[in-house]
This record gives sequence, structure tokens and C-alpha cells, in this order.
Amino acid sequence: MKVRAPSSSSRYFEVKGLMREGGLHTICEEARCPNIGECWGRGTATFQILGDTCTRACRYCYVHSGKPDGPPDPLEPLRLAQAAAQMKLSHVVVTSVDRDDLPDRGAAHYAATIRAIKRKLPAAKVEILTPDFLDVEEEALGTVLAAQPEVFNHNIETVRRLHARMRGAKASYDKALWLLERAKEVADYPVLTKSGIIVGLGETNDEVVDTMRDLRAHGVDVVTIGQYLQPSPKHAQIDRWVHPDEFRWFREQGEKLGFGSVFSGPLVRSSYRADEQRHAAETSRGAVAY
Ligand code: SF4
Repeated sequence: MKVRAPSSSSRYFEVKGLMREGGLHTICEEARCPNIGECWGRGTATFQILGDTCTRACRYCYVHSGKPDGPPDPLEPLRLAQAAAQMKLSHVVVTSVDRDDLPDRGAAHYAATIRAIKRKLPAAKVEILTPDFLDVEEEALGTVLAAQPEVFNHNIETVRRLHARMRGAKASYDKALWLLERAKEVADYPVLTKSGIIVGLGETNDEVVDTMRDLRAHGVDVVTIGQYLQPSPKHAQIDRWVHPDEFRWFREQGEKLGFGSVFSGPLVRSSYRADEQRHAAETSRGAVAY
């Protein structure tokens, strides 16, 4: 696998400067995403709100885990919206760390961020990639969906058999499916729902298809499938390298199941070319990212 290195002729350094200037975090950097040269070079990035410390410790994720330092920064939504405007984004992707320490799990901060973006960039579409809002799911869905993000994304991450082992006891495969289905019921507008699967963690190809089937059964419109890369020796080992032909097969299976968009490839990540994923689903023509 080859990725594009950051180049001085691209917009990479401009994006980096805006993030530093605004005191903003991105999942691109925090999770050591291999696509950063390409995405930032295109002038896009995925914002990570609610700080840089996650209250969970999933075995595949590089984001710093621990006890977060205080409540959310109330000015972060405004700074993020300002940076998105300077980047001239037409599709803004926002994710966060898990904040199990907050009574609302960060839902109000998500809503404030969506509203700040929509005020600053009225034509932009907003995609949120949320945590599971442990134990306050219904209220949190109401809060974030009242701000009307166009895409509600919650990653299932892995197959049912590996879910607890990879994500820990607090996470639940069935709760993730419920959250995705309930989002459409709670929204009073046609929100797109989306989820992602990481492969190379020990699953079989049939289990990946079973997971896609579960997602479709819960009304999910967009799915992404990408290869796991071990971010450090402390994280789960790579079980296998999935061949590009297998990624193509996943796409074919996903399209047969009726997803509006299936992005499947070694370097596909949840937010990789997210604007194209949304567009593919809206026009229901399906897509592949490589
Ligand atoms: S794929 Fe997503 S997380 Fe990775 S660099 Fe691109 S926007 Fe950032």
C-alpha cells in the first residue's frame, strides 16, 4: 500500500496551520490516519471535538485514553466553524472522543458544533461520527438530531464475535445497531445513516457480510470497509491483510444488500472522501474508493 506524502505544493500545511491556530484536534492526526497526506492535501480533514482524551480504550484505536481534563471548551464549536469556513468546506465531518464522564456524553457539544457550522457555512452538509452515548442514548439522539446533521454515522467497527474483545465491555454490537436505526426514527427529516467496519482483526469474510446484513436490516445507507493497521505494538495485532479482490467482493455484496454507497478498500476509513460517499448514497449509484 502506498500513500501520498504531504507536499509543500498541496494544502496540507495550510490545513495544519488552521488546526494549530484554532487549537483544534483532528482524528486524522490523533488516530495516525494513513490518508492524511491525501485528505489534507485536498484541503479536507475530520475534526475531533470534546478534547484529545477518550474514556474508552478500544484495542485498535490510537487515540489517547484516560481521564479527560474538565468540561468541553464552550468556544470550540465557534473556532471549528471558523476553520471550516476558512477551508471552504462543503461537507464538514465531526467526530469526538468518548466522554463517559459527561452526563450527556457530549451530545450538547455536538449540537452546538453542528449549529455553529450551519450558521457560518449555511450551504455545507454536516456529518457527525458519534460515540455510543452510553446509557443516555435516546436523549442524546434527540439533542444531536435536533441540530439536523445531514449524515449520522456510528461505526460498528467489527463483527459480532469480536465486538466485546476489541471494544471492551461497555460497547455493544446490538446497541450500535439500535442507535443507527433509532437515529432515523428520531430525526424529523431524511437523515442518512452510515457505519464502518475494520477488517484484519480476526473476522472472516462471511462475518463481514453478516455485519453488513445487520446494518442494512437496521436501515443503514452507507458503509465503509477498510484494512486495520496496528498503530503501536500495544494494540491488537493484524490478523490478516485483506486482498483488494476481497475488498471488491465486499463492495459487490454490500451493493446487493442495497446500501446506497459502499466504499471498500485497504485505505478506506470512515471519513475518507466522505463528501463522495454522501453524494453516492444520495444519488444511489454506489461507489468504490480505489
Ligand atoms: S480518511 Fe478521514 S481521518 Fe483519515 S486523513 Fe482523511 S479525513 Fe482524516
